[in-house]
Amino acid sequence: MPTDPDLSSLSVRQLRSRRRRLATSLADPQASLEGSLVSQMRRCGKEGCRCAQGELHGPYVYLSISRGAERRLLYVPAELAEVVRRHLALTEQIESTLAAISAINLELLARRQLD
Ligand SMILES: [Zn+2]
Repeated sequence: MPTDPDLSSLSVRQLRSRRRRLATSLADPQASLEGSLVSQMRRCGKEGCRCAQGELHGPYVYLSISRGAERRLLYVPAELAEVVRRHLALTEQIESTLAAISAINLELLARRQLD
């Protein structure tokens, strides 16, 4: 696996200090929540309801969770949608920070400087 060209121009000292900064900026891992929010219109199934004529209920918010090929939807009450959105954003931040730290460690390893 090739190392990041942006990192190859940095000194070992610079790499380590960048790694330290990234680790310090890492969001609280307790925020981790994987998935993505989707909103859907639904039919309730009650006979004679307006949704039977195509006037669907909603939109309702769901958290789409994938495990392997399986995907399921968990209903998210409207009052929790913002909290879930915040957790998802923090999770993305955590993942991209960890990926950046990993790239630095890969560069350090390639130079035999991984501590
Ligand atoms: Zn209905």
